[in-house]
Amino acid sequence: MSTGAALAPGATIGILGGGQLARMMGFEAVRLGYRVAVLDPDPACPAAAVATVVAGRLDDHRAAARLAALADAVTIDTEHVPAPVLAAIETTTRVWPTSEALATLQDRLTQKTFLARIGAPQARFFAVHDAESLTAAIDAVGTPAVLKTRRGGYDGRGQAMLQTPLDAGAAWRALGAAPAVLESWVPFHRELSVVLARDSRGNVCTYALAENLHRNHILHISAAPADIAPALERRARDLAATIAEQLGLVGVVTLELFDTGDDLLVNEIAPRVHNSGHFTFGACVTSQFAQHVRAIAGLPLGDTTQLAPAAIVNLLGDLWDRGEPDWRPLLREPRTALHLYGKRVAHPGRKMGHALVVGTSAAAARARAEAIHARLRAPALDQSLATANPGA
Ligand code: AMP
Repeated sequence: MSTGAALAPGATIGILGGGQLARMMGFEAVRLGYRVAVLDPDPACPAAAVATVVAGRLDDHRAAARLAALADAVTIDTEHVPAPVLAAIETTTRVWPTSEALATLQDRLTQKTFLARIGAPQARFFAVHDAESLTAAIDAVGTPAVLKTRRGGYDGRGQAMLQTPLDAGAAWRALGAAPAVLESWVPFHRELSVVLARDSRGNVCTYALAENLHRNHILHISAAPADIAPALERRARDLAATIAEQLGLVGVVTLELFDTGDDLLVNEIAPRVHNSGHFTFGACVTSQFAQHVRAIAGLPLGDTTQLAPAAIVNLLGDLWDRGEPDWRPLLREPRTALHLYGKRVAHPGRKMGHALVVGTSAAAARARAEAIHARLRAPALDQSLATANPGA
């Protein structure tokens, strides 16, 4: 059920998944006067700080129905919610994105087939389901190439590199012989992303493009506005608008792009708020989180003006290898805001928080973010630990 009528303050926004994206959507929903409920297996999930938690797995139809019964509109914090779970609740509740759009996007093959159908530029790809089709894929796509599982991958998980055709067997085994897509390796200059919001009447607005730097396939730093030729920027915004319209999306959608120097190729579509849009939370009039809530609640879209150039740096669990980092130097930094997600357990690669830095230019903000991050691992922490444990 998808009506565009505006939800009144006091209505409840339901979110499937209670991670950091749900937490930040929750902050903004509460600011707008809404209540928030999330479905998550962990009653102490990050969104628990701002939401009622329905404890349950994301593939549990009964638990999802319990959440839907509490909510006036339902959305997702991860695209890995099974589409049939969404399909079951959208008969009674307003759900964005729709199960149909989610089903198209959560499978890399159907996502890429959709992009090909609308003529969006992307890397060459070929479906793989066994050793034979992998050989055919290598013939079609060439090497270097990257083999990606059709479902469930994120932050580089479910991906294996093929430098030469001889790597085929190892790559196939590394992915557990799961249905996959072979994609040609793109020698990109840099990675960009664009965050777009669409309301139920079809109005759209976009934020400044962000330039993204990954480490070990995980976003490390994102800075905006990206320095980009106006024609390419228009192309990115138009592509995002076409994709959102074709999929009938309402809410925020993010396009990850490879900039090859003279063109932009779509790497991935995420039908949700995105890590590379975190700069909007503090640097823009309306954050991506508020924007998503406004769109799914049937409110008019907010202003996307960026108030200052900005960068964010992710704080991964690796920084916790000796316990909670010492935040004091970061907290003393001017023009910097610390965001922690309230996760109780840190492990390498886990996104525990981020720092937002505003500056006179995106490049300056990015350099500052990098310096702040480097200092979090500085010997000062080791020394204080050494003093505390002289015998260690
Ligand atoms: P993904 O999970 O597909 O977004 O991939 C994570 C990261 O791996 C991307 O942001 C890129 O840095 C890199 N990557 C993925 N696919 C390709 C490709 N076809 N060519 C070059 N780099 C890639």
